[in-house]
Amino acid sequence: MTTAIGIVMTGHIVAGRLEDLHLAGRLLRDSAEVDGLNALSAIPGSELLEILAEKARILAAESTYPVEAICVAVPGIIRHGVVEDSPNLTQIKGMHLADELARALAERGIHAPVHVANDADAIAAGVAATRGRLDKLTRVWTIGTGIGYGRWPYVEGVWEGGHITVTLDPKEKYCGCGGVGHLEGIMGYRAMRMRFLDLEPEEIFAQARQGDARCREFVDLWHRALAAGTASFIHLAGPGRFYFTGQNVSFLDLNLLRSHLESMVRMSPLQSFSLEILPPGDETALLGAGVSALRALNL
Ligand SMILES: [Zn+2]
Repeated sequence: MTTAIGIVMTGHIVAGRLEDLHLAGRLLRDSAEVDGLNALSAIPGSELLEILAEKARILAAESTYPVEAICVAVPGIIRHGVVEDSPNLTQIKGMHLADELARALAERGIHAPVHVANDADAIAAGVAATRGRLDKLTRVWTIGTGIGYGRWPYVEGVWEGGHITVTLDPKEKYCGCGGVGHLEGIMGYRAMRMRFLDLEPEEIFAQARQGDARCREFVDLWHRALAAGTASFIHLAGPGRFYFTGQNVSFLDLNLLRSHLESMVRMSPLQSFSLEILPPGDETALLGAGVSALRALNL
């Protein structure tokens, strides 16, 4: 039996124990959640590290078997255990998360390797595992404060799909990273608030449904932007399955997305893509964090 502890830190923190890649026992959640915005962004990095270590300690104490790996999924550019950037959790930028968490765990008597994955990559791994498709390319968009792009199988690279350029309009400058014309600058929660200073994102989508012209135009732009990003990845890596998740996935109208995508992808070998919204829940990401850690650590 392989015992691991998975921790996902996105808009909130959730942790669970994995036994042979199945969730066992209870999930620990942090209650500090604020609608749409990232409540964790105000917590200093050193404090976040302590929170993660404490969750792992509690779960390890509840396990009858020794813990063999700690798997953490966080948003941003993650390479070799280092958070190279994380525009929506800026305090963890530059953090040697794998090493620092391993040290905090060692102080608590837990000696297990720590693997850090991008949160969207973890969801892609989790989807591939639960659908029995670990040998196939799986891609996931996470729609939250920021826009994440994840893929399984893991390949070396940056894959910051949320920051792909989808417009040449110089006025499109709302992305959290500061870049002009980015997908997240149109679709991200924070970006929408900056664009519509008088409306919350939920109100924009509600008013669009009621026929407000300005909101309808934006909702169409929002879907065209996601279609453009998806079309770019289809033109690079081929068609296949795309999944959508995240705290604001309810804004997504798959039919509208599909119609824009069909106008952008015209080569017949590329038209066999499928689009699916994932059911809400943290389990897929936790499982995926475990899957990618066990692959990376060869357990
Ligand atoms: Zn950006």
